[in-house]
Amino acid sequence: MNTIVKSAQKMNLQQMRSLYLKDAVVFSEKDNRDCAYIIEKGEVEISVKRDGRKVPLVRLGEGEVFGETALLGPGARTATAIATEDCEVFRIFPHIFQNRIMQLDPLVGLLMSLLVNRYRQWSITSPDSVSEVDILPCENKDIKLLDRADDFLLGLRLQKETALKELRMAQEITHAIEKKQFAPHLQPIVSLPDRKLLGFEALIRWNHPEKGMIPPMEFIPVAERTDVVWHLDMLMLRRACQVVQELQEVAGNIDRKLFLSVNLSGIHFDSKDFSSQIASIIEESSVDPAQIVLEITESALMGNPKQAEVVLKDLRKQGLTIALDDFGTGYSSLGYLHRFPIDILKIDRSFVQDIHSNSKSLNVVRAIVSLAKTFDLSIVAEGIESANEAISIAGLGCDAGQGYLFSKPLPVEKAMEFLISSIAKNG
Ligand code: C2E
Ligand code: CA
Ligand code: CA
Repeated sequence: MNTIVKSAQKMNLQQMRSLYLKDAVVFSEKDNRDCAYIIEKGEVEISVKRDGRKVPLVRLGEGEVFGETALLGPGARTATAIATEDCEVFRIFPHIFQNRIMQLDPLVGLLMSLLVNRYRQWSITSPDSVSEVDILPCENKDIKLLDRADDFLLGLRLQKETALKELRMAQEITHAIEKKQFAPHLQPIVSLPDRKLLGFEALIRWNHPEKGMIPPMEFIPVAERTDVVWHLDMLMLRRACQVVQELQEVAGNIDRKLFLSVNLSGIHFDSKDFSSQIASIIEESSVDPAQIVLEITESALMGNPKQAEVVLKDLRKQGLTIALDDFGTGYSSLGYLHRFPIDILKIDRSFVQDIHSNSKSLNVVRAIVSLAKTFDLSIVAEGIESANEAISIAGLGCDAGQGYLFSKPLPVEKAMEFLISSIAKNG
């Protein structure tokens, strides 16, 4: 009785492990009592010891979880879990769980850890609590448990610091919006066959009074975890509507309408009035909607494809152009290209930069170009840094390119100068 039967056949030491059990098993004797389990099949009985006797608490079946408090607390799992029949369970290791939570949202991680810790303290001190007996297994003063408690406190401190940093930054962003510290930098997008300037991508910059220019990757992810990103993106859109009209004026009598691309965070697709808010910004500014390109990523679409489809169709009806950003890095599938009203594919920088050293990247670019032609989409290759890359990319049939070869992102006044000299040179 109570033995783990050769459970290791299917173990993958990486993440969650599958554990196949025959007979009844006392889980707590065979692991460090620091994991939780999801029951895939079978039944598990949870019990505690009271006055030396086993007291069954509950029977859990398929889809239920036990050992959950061990994931976030400093102590080991204390109740005993016994498989009462053949069971299949998934093991969840605490570090995996903690990493996932922290990636998702450090504040949520912090609050969960605190709650579990408080629950444990309460259950230790509460005389009627079933969990009073839960501390019994700790009597063996296993050194691992003490280490774990230290790790936990350290982890908690780090969690608290990260969460606080994020909260402060979110607050600071709101303050910075009021102080008008955000502005777009514009990066030229040129036609590859003749190098004519077609338009620019607006990339947000935070001109911080003490820290200087802060790049978007340092604050957009934080802004995305709050609703602040909405204000940032709408601020950029408003500004883009103004700037593109100024650019067109500066360009004078050219044969084409310039465009400005703005980046939109995927989380906006959850908001019902997303497209109507955009419509009112476009209307207010009296910009020609054909001059505004909205850049969205593949993952943004895949989060809620139905909603995304409705929103994109609505935006397209308003005359806006839709570009799929970072193409090739997400869930590329033919199905959704057909389904969503997309006008432009932006090939991710990673493929462009590898084009001469990695035949796979070359093939990816080739495949994307042919895909784009099939669906009648334009292509912009991102991150072109060398003349050779530009030649190869153009040779594959890409219409347009963007990258340090042509220019880094520029403040608006510098972009105007770039525009003037580009028209003088290439028309
Ligand atoms: P992205 O949309 O893929 O923008 C292109 C990024 O690649 C920009 O970085 C640009 O400066 C950089 N880049 C362009 N050409 C080259 C090149 O030749 N070589 C290299 N190494 N890099 C190049 P940036 O400005 O730091 O922006 C990073 C990301 O931040 C953007 O990636 C976009 O996802 C996000 N972002 C920027 N502005 C906004 C915004 O207003 N709203 C939202 N939601 N996200 C934004
Ligand atoms: Ca972009
Ligand atoms: Ca991109």
